Amino acid sequence: MFEQKKERILSGMRPSGKLHLGNLTGALENWVKLQDDYENFHFVADWHTLTTDYKHSARIWPDTIDMVIDWLAAGLDPEKSTLFVQSHIKEHAELHLLFSMLVTIPRLERNPTVKEQIRELHLEDRVSYGHFGYPVLQAADILMYRAHAVPVGDDQVPHVELTREIARKFNQVYGKVFPVPKALLTKFSRLPGLDGSKMSKSKGNTILLSDRPDVIRKKVRSAITDPQKIRMGDPGHPEVCSVFTYHQKFNPTEIPEIEAECKKGTLGCVACKNNLSDKLINFLEPIQVKRIRIEADQSYIKDVLRTGNSKARKEAQETMELVRENMKFGYFREIEELKWTKV
Ligand code: ATP
Ligand code: MG
Repeated sequence: MFEQKKERILSGMRPSGKLHLGNLTGALENWVKLQDDYENFHFVADWHTLTTDYKHSARIWPDTIDMVIDWLAAGLDPEKSTLFVQSHIKEHAELHLLFSMLVTIPRLERNPTVKEQIRELHLEDRVSYGHFGYPVLQAADILMYRAHAVPVGDDQVPHVELTREIARKFNQVYGKVFPVPKALLTKFSRLPGLDGSKMSKSKGNTILLSDRPDVIRKKVRSAITDPQKIRMGDPGHPEVCSVFTYHQKFNPTEIPEIEAECKKGTLGCVACKNNLSDKLINFLEPIQVKRIRIEADQSYIKDVLRTGNSKARKEAQETMELVRENMKFGYFREIEELKWTKV
């Protein structure tokens, strides 16, 4: 029977700490959902971790293992999805170098996500060349696998836009090699953190997938809510409250009454938060149970990455052959052949 070839998706995460609810709602959950309809490739973006912390490179490998456990516990199936490590596929570095010639500095300076990160980390006068240019590396990560779609949170959309421009430019100058990929967003593509700003591993405003019930309760109690709702009877504004956003995602059936009662002032923040904690604890329990099981089998995790690396490497080598041929770098073959015929 003729089987339609599936489109391919590519997406990765930085091993910069355990995963949080934002990573789940913006990306991971979508990766799991798309596994049957697409050919999934997911990579540990370990080189990208160096952009914001090049000193603690020894942490990257343990964090990689930790993150892959989260991926598997959340439902990524290595039989369906190729899971691999960026730095193990050296072709990413070569494609990044070639792409870096196609992008101007002013174009990079217009990237809102990089600008926001530089501002938040106070790096204005000392941002590194690698950090500033990481969206170009990301374009190489995506296009290496000739992906059609990229399931990411909304902070990554500007990078996918740059990737599309690079794909078009490469195809126009050297001949068509790359599809022009599109971003795939979820409804919760920018989940707020406990402080109301984007939930991020590096900001300490997260609820982790692996947080124990008492930690979840404590964190939810500390979440910033509507600043105008001070006492129980005060009418609230759910649209500005991150706790309400979490209810929308993790407790959708109670939304109409929570919204109405918060607005009337009959629902206090403490009760609302306790209710949310219960829902989060229930939601995360099966993931945590699975996590413990996977964590105990380190050789399985390494096998998953070994198999994923070899699949990814094969794809990357094929892409680079095409890239070199199209750029007329194929001439290195002549020298190689010459060497072989002389021997
Ligand atoms: P870091 O602070 O180290 O950058 P991060 O929490 O932003 O970490 P990343 O590894 O950069 O996580 O992102 C992994 C994926 O999760 C990306 O697709 C990103 O868009 C998505 N993501 C990150 N934070 C959120 C969020 N708060 N809401 C929705 N999606 C998110
Ligand atoms: Mg990030």
